[in-house]
Amino acid sequence: MPVYVYQCSGCSARWEEFHTVAERHEESCSTCVNSKLFIVPQVQKFMPFHEGVYEHIAKDPMYITSKKRLKDECRARDVTSKYIVD
Ligand SMILES: [Zn+2]
Repeated sequence: MPVYVYQCSGCSARWEEFHTVAERHEESCSTCVNSKLFIVPQVQKFMPFHEGVYEHIAKDPMYITSKKRLKDECRARDVTSKYIVD
């Protein structure tokens, strides 16, 4: 079941609810009883780090064994990776 992040257009309250896709518009604000809500789109910002070959950091694929190493390599090349969060 997806998590929806709702924001109330009346009082700007924000909260998360589990809903099925069909139920997602049946939510209302518990603070001001406003039913005009919008769903805040959620994007997955990062992936958990895993040891392995990283192809998009440098010109040649690199084998990275630790998250720290990945961070260092990214920083050295002025790139970012979705596998690290900052
Ligand atoms: Zn509200």
